[in-house]
Amino acid sequence: MSATLPTPPSCGTVLIAGAGPVGAACALLLARGGWPVADLHLVDARPAAAGRDSRAIALNHGSRVLLESAGAWPADATPITTIHVSQRGRLGRTVIDRLDHGVPALGYVVAYDRLMQALDAALDAAGVQVRHGVPARPLATSAGILLAELGTERVPADVFIAAEGGAFGEQDARRRRFDYGQSAIVATVQASDAPAGWAYERFTAHGPIALLPQQTPQGPRHCLVWCGLPLDGARRQAMEPQAFAAELHQQFGDRVGRFTLAGPRAVFPLGLNTHDTLVEGRVVRIGNAAQTLHPVAGQGLNLGLRDAACLAQELLLQGAGLAALHRFADRRRLDRGLTTRLTDWMARSFATPFAPMQHLLGGALGLLDFTPGARAMLSRHLMVGQR
Ligand SMILES: Cc1cc2nc3c(=O)[nH]c(=O)nc-3n(C[C@H](O)[C@H](O)[C@H](O)COP(=O)(O)OP(=O)(O)OC[C@H]3O[C@@H](n4cnc5c(N)ncnc54)[C@H](O)[C@@H]3O)c2cc1C
Repeated sequence: MSATLPTPPSCGTVLIAGAGPVGAACALLLARGGWPVADLHLVDARPAAAGRDSRAIALNHGSRVLLESAGAWPADATPITTIHVSQRGRLGRTVIDRLDHGVPALGYVVAYDRLMQALDAALDAAGVQVRHGVPARPLATSAGILLAELGTERVPADVFIAAEGGAFGEQDARRRRFDYGQSAIVATVQASDAPAGWAYERFTAHGPIALLPQQTPQGPRHCLVWCGLPLDGARRQAMEPQAFAAELHQQFGDRVGRFTLAGPRAVFPLGLNTHDTLVEGRVVRIGNAAQTLHPVAGQGLNLGLRDAACLAQELLLQGAGLAALHRFADRRRLDRGLTTRLTDWMARSFATPFAPMQHLLGGALGLLDFTPGARAMLSRHLMVGQR
């Protein structure tokens, strides 16, 4: 990106609130594209010493290309070669293989922590300083300059990038909000008989169970994202490890053998929470600050990284003005709309207790298995999105 873009006509001051993966990627792409680092402020409310979360994230091929080009790809990402999708208690299933798409991997599993280490190191190398323990929010705009609160200071900025993300359970309600009545337990598990590189998504009546392959210093493991009723989530989080593994086996079936719990469990409430508009005055939203999705298709961060790349590109082309922000919002409409609708549809339809609908969806999975064109279209969107 940095090699091809011209120097922006007039830069201006950019303030990024939130140094999670999306805000950090946006700052990095700006700095590597030639934005003066003295005019780039990246702050995070979290103190530097605070632990991050244990989440592992599936990143698609497009995100890998983006992060690699920015020098922030974690070396120990685990490739996903095959994805197996099935429905509990029904026959339909489909298998998506990297060879059908001519790519080295369908996606990669990366620990949130490791991704942040790679981004922090790349920011450091690019001369961008992250100020931790500094919450930011926009205040008023006058004469085309926005005033923002940065911890105890008030500073002017030409553009305020809201990248404060967060999970569904901790966010204020936005224009479109839907509570799926589900929570996700995230944990690391060991499966006795899992083929290397295979990821699994198994739909149950109360939510999907995803198993993502993860190479760790202790050997092969899987990151489990087990969605279900919040009451079950709380109960499963408190269960003895052996009972937890047995219940998981009973829900997931025999496909990968027996499970052993290999790490702590964390619970996340799940919902859809999106803004209709990405730009308000000189404030622009990206990542989870713009849209928070159900993790069913593993799309939240992939979509957020595409927001970050598109915004950085427009700012580098046009400078920190309203033209860049509006062009960014226009360019993101299609991808956001499609990804949000697809994710929402999957989260709602597959978690239905209504038997005829379950049969229909089982049939749809089976049909997908015999329809390479449709499978390729769906896979392409999940692998790279719309740019
Ligand atoms: C269980 C689960 C599994 C998931 N799996 C996947 C997956 O497989 N693939 C995928 O693509 N996505 C996945 N996601 C979604 C993904 O985690 C998010 O989309 C992603 O973390 C969003 O990144 P972000 O930088 O926008 O926000 P965050 O990761 O939430 O980071 C925001 C940062 O902003 C800081 N902040 C907050 N408020 C302020 C403020 N006022 N001022 C300054 N800083 C502030 C926070 O401290 C934080 O560091 C999953 C989500 C969940 C819950």
